[in-house]
Amino acid sequence: MTDNAIEISGLKKTYAATGRSPGKEALKGVDLNIPRGSIFGLLGPNGAGKSTLINILAGLVVKSAGSVKIWGFDQDTNPRQSRASIGIMPQEPHLDPFFTPAGSLDVQAGLYGVPKSQRRTAEILDLIGLTDKADAYSRSLSGGMRRRLLLGKALVHSPQILVLDEPTAGVDIALRNMLWQNVRKLNDEGMTVILTTHYLEEAEAMCDDIAIINHGEVVARDSTSNLIGHLDRKTLVITPDGPAELPELPPEIAGKKHHNGMLSFTYQSATTPADAVLHILREAGITIKDVKTQEAHLEDVFLSLTSAK
Ligand code: ADP
Ligand code: MG
Repeated sequence: MTDNAIEISGLKKTYAATGRSPGKEALKGVDLNIPRGSIFGLLGPNGAGKSTLINILAGLVVKSAGSVKIWGFDQDTNPRQSRASIGIMPQEPHLDPFFTPAGSLDVQAGLYGVPKSQRRTAEILDLIGLTDKADAYSRSLSGGMRRRLLLGKALVHSPQILVLDEPTAGVDIALRNMLWQNVRKLNDEGMTVILTTHYLEEAEAMCDDIAIINHGEVVARDSTSNLIGHLDRKTLVITPDGPAELPELPPEIAGKKHHNGMLSFTYQSATTPADAVLHILREAGITIKDVKTQEAHLEDVFLSLTSAK
């Protein structure tokens, strides 16, 4: 047994050419291990190959080459156990309009062979906030309720790993918050969570570790803090109390005077404390009216990694 929830090696996917579209090499040899117990982010722009990877994990897309182990079970040699270990909330919602939420969960549990006595329909309805809609027709549910039902369906067989493909793309803030709370709760209870997103902020807020995927390749893989620490740039933006010139600065601090009179100072936070900047300002006789800090975001990491390609 390993400590990895997922082990992917040499994974390739080429979609065959059809009358409408040319062939597409969506994954070009992905190696990726995802540790157990983490919230793991698969981050990348539209078309990067995120859904292809997720759909291979889900058994919905057949890989062209490589191997996939889910919870230690090889997908090719142990298809049943590997499938039982993972629950997927797909990006595209497909719901049967004639089932009620309670009915959908029950059918899904049946598909996974969960015995009636072990079904957790009421508990899952409560988790996803659909208890009072348990017996409403799915076609009468709002978009947000459908998304929540999809999450519920991914949980019926109590998988060790939950995968959410762009769970919050195009959803409102209330639903996003609810999904995030659910994900954190499930992770606290021990579930490994993998989510794909093209929102850098989301990966930054939610994930312990992140892989960045672009054009079918993993271009970076690290802890969220390391990926951000990688940049380790902080900027202090000062509004002086009256006109002020940029003071003389040591080489590790880059200064700039803006048209509106504001001064900004950029430095590496690991080696330079903010107080060093404030000290220089005091020495130069500059009184501070207001001060703001700006930190590097994953957006910057992403740009620096992908623009180099
Ligand atoms: P993401 O989820 O990161 O947006 P996808 O995995 O959906 O990316 O798509 C990766 C690439 O594969 C894209 O260029 C997309 O157009 C292509 N692709 C996805 N699904 C199919 C398919 N069924 N047939 C042909 N090409 C596809
Ligand atoms: Mg996708």
